[in-house]
Amino acid sequence: MDIDFAPADIAFRDEVRAFLNAKLNARLREGAANTPSVFVEPDLTREWQAILNQQGWLATSWPQEYGGPGWTPVQKYIFEKECAIAGAPSLPVLGLKLVGPVICKFGTDEQKARFLPRILSGEDYWCQGYSEPGSGSDLAALKTKAERRGDTYVIDGTKLWTTHAHHANWIFALVRTDSTARKQQGISFLLIPMDQPGVTVTPIVTMANDHEVNQTFFDNAVTGLENRIGEEGQGWTIAKYLLENERGGSCAAPALLAELDRIEDFSRSEPSGVNGAMIHDSAFAQRLARLRLEAEAFEVTELRILAELVKGRPAGPQTSLVKLISANLRQAINVLALDLFAYEGLQLPLSRPLYGNEAPEPVGSRAAQLALPTYLNGRAWTIFGGTDEVQKTIIAKQVLGL
Ligand SMILES: Cc1cc2nc3c(=O)[nH]c(=O)nc-3n(C[C@H](O)[C@H](O)[C@H](O)COP(=O)(O)OP(=O)(O)OC[C@H]3O[C@@H](n4cnc5c(N)ncnc54)[C@H](O)[C@@H]3O)c2cc1C
Repeated sequence: MDIDFAPADIAFRDEVRAFLNAKLNARLREGAANTPSVFVEPDLTREWQAILNQQGWLATSWPQEYGGPGWTPVQKYIFEKECAIAGAPSLPVLGLKLVGPVICKFGTDEQKARFLPRILSGEDYWCQGYSEPGSGSDLAALKTKAERRGDTYVIDGTKLWTTHAHHANWIFALVRTDSTARKQQGISFLLIPMDQPGVTVTPIVTMANDHEVNQTFFDNAVTGLENRIGEEGQGWTIAKYLLENERGGSCAAPALLAELDRIEDFSRSEPSGVNGAMIHDSAFAQRLARLRLEAEAFEVTELRILAELVKGRPAGPQTSLVKLISANLRQAINVLALDLFAYEGLQLPLSRPLYGNEAPEPVGSRAAQLALPTYLNGRAWTIFGGTDEVQKTIIAKQVLGL
């Protein structure tokens, strides 16, 4: 699809391309291409994060005064697109795209000075404590409580599905500070250090064999009053702001289109068993074309939202539309990749990583080895950040006014 960008944007695109050519080394490209999970491991993200930070191109959604690059939404889109085409590793979103913007918007000057530079440098690695057993879609039902004692909060309870909590040294968490108020009103947003006796992280290994998520327990864990973001009881407002960023804060279409290109490349050599290569199998070619059309149409939707942002309007509940479409497209693309590799696509390697010297030997190609782990891991796209049903309810109520 051709989009008419202004000459300055085209010059910017060329600058980004030159930068990626020079800085995105083979190890990073290989690691990113061969990561089947949604989250890339810190051994890769740290290196890429440091390179981007040095360039001042890391925190693309932060205001310039706190370390953002000061890009227009169009520049941000161009950057994401070029990174997707070049195969750059995705960055740790929990600090950079979730809690970082929250601190920029709701944090005190002291909190900004303390936390933002450490997110940029990678010294702090964050995880997210929203969901609990019995409180996922109905987030406001959360029970983890924080009690004020002197100049600290004492936290008891548990958080579930905490992505990369085993790597994190900080967690941002929604906690109940008032159990007598209406359920949305008694919630506060706390930053809690992970490295203390009151915090325990237990792994949850998923059906794809990835250790990506955990359960995190708080047993008399403590954090200072100065680590509360916003007022006591303001947690729900902050939580909603963060979720809008989580659902639509990035540009998803370029990565989908890049993945379709990759699948098309492989289909030129993958035998169909009947008609030469898979690309000549009309049923396969039709599915590929259909998904490409859907991804291109989705890119137009993202660009329309971008145009709103350029005019200074908030992205708002349309982010639910972005989350819904991109999650379902990703899953459909993963099924296509699985079908492309036929029986070789059914291998499920037990160890990680699938890049570098430790990677287990694939049956057939590395791409075939990735198909099933990527498909299984990708089932979570329609769950985390709010399930499809939750997004549809938001769209029905807040976008369509039903
Ligand atoms: C891989 C992965 C990583 C995650 N990472 C994190 C993380 O880092 N931090 C974090 O806090 N959370 C995380 N989550 C949790 C995620 O946000 C929740 O799983 C999600 O919000 C759904 O909640 P639940 O699992 O409790 O399911 P439930 O809310 O129990 O939902 C079960 C089913 O019922 C449906 N349903 C529920 N309520 C309604 C309704 N009102 N109308 C229609 N249908 C409904 C849902 O759509 C779903 O199909 C992660 C989840 C996964 C799978």
